[in-house]
Amino acid sequence: AKADGRGVHRFYSDDMLTGARTRKLLEDDLRAAISDGAFHLCYQPIVSTKSAQIVGYEALIRWNHPTRGLVSPADFIPVAEECGLIEAIGEWVLRTACLEAARWPGSVRVAVNVSPIQFANPALPALVTSALAQSGIAAGRLELEITEGVFLDETRSSEQMFRALKGIGVRLALDDFGTGYSSLGYLRNAPFDKIKIDQSFVRGAAEPGNRNAAIIKAIVTLADTLGMETTAEGVEVQDEIDLIRDLGCSHIQGYVYGRPVRADEALRQLGVENGT
Ligand code: C2E
Ligand code: CA
Ligand code: CA
Ligand code: CA
Repeated sequence: AKADGRGVHRFYSDDMLTGARTRKLLEDDLRAAISDGAFHLCYQPIVSTKSAQIVGYEALIRWNHPTRGLVSPADFIPVAEECGLIEAIGEWVLRTACLEAARWPGSVRVAVNVSPIQFANPALPALVTSALAQSGIAAGRLELEITEGVFLDETRSSEQMFRALKGIGVRLALDDFGTGYSSLGYLRNAPFDKIKIDQSFVRGAAEPGNRNAAIIKAIVTLADTLGMETTAEGVEVQDEIDLIRDLGCSHIQGYVYGRPVRADEALRQLGVENGT
């Protein structure tokens, strides 16, 4: 498939991504990507509204395809989930993020996205323990971001998974809150440390009369009451920083503070000398 340069380009066009043949090509390339070292992680700063300091980074996977160039995770993660490759990719992400975070100051956290498929695998706690031990970072520095997708089936086993992960001491964040199948019932029993407010609520929130600000305020009030932190995602301009701070969010993530950058650039942002 890879030799067929022009074909590959066409096969990856949006309208064809659902085709079985396209999926197969993407799948073959994804499988090769793991062994070829074609993935890397970028890191996007998460900033405290109180201190205006970087207190953590979210790890975001990047795939540099040999002929297509950078392919968005929004395009290939769903395919990896469908064909079972998400387990191997997710393990690589978790181990790599912990190893790279081990070079940061001990107060800086790393957030890692965990697919609902990984979350349904009883082997996840052992993997998390292994990644922590291998890197030497404290469990409290690792935050796992999960979406409401983890609640779609088997609430019983997800309860056990929550307990096992909290037992290890890692933090849990509910990602993309407010999109999809939101139910407040999820918040009642699940031990989240943080709610990430989806960027669709931040968009336009600073404009007069926009209703998103009221929704953000309600989410923050709820999170405060439940003892959870809040991160507003996709904050792009200063007006939004001011509003988000006024609405009481504890953290901000978005282009206004920095785009996702490679590991060495994150080290520079943190004032860590390269090579030490
Ligand atoms: P997400 O977890 O919601 O990650 C946030 C996305 O918003 C990232 O897109 C980030 O680059 C983008 N973003 C951050 N700030 C801004 C902003 O100010 N404006 C705008 N317009 N966008 C902003 P990215 O890196 O393309 O990732 C897309 C999605 O792919 C992620 O959404 C996540 O669901 C998934 N993903 C990325 N890396 C991983 C991974 O390692 N594992 C898994 N399972 N999923 C991943
Ligand atoms: Ca995320
Ligand atoms: Ca998100
Ligand atoms: Ca998202």
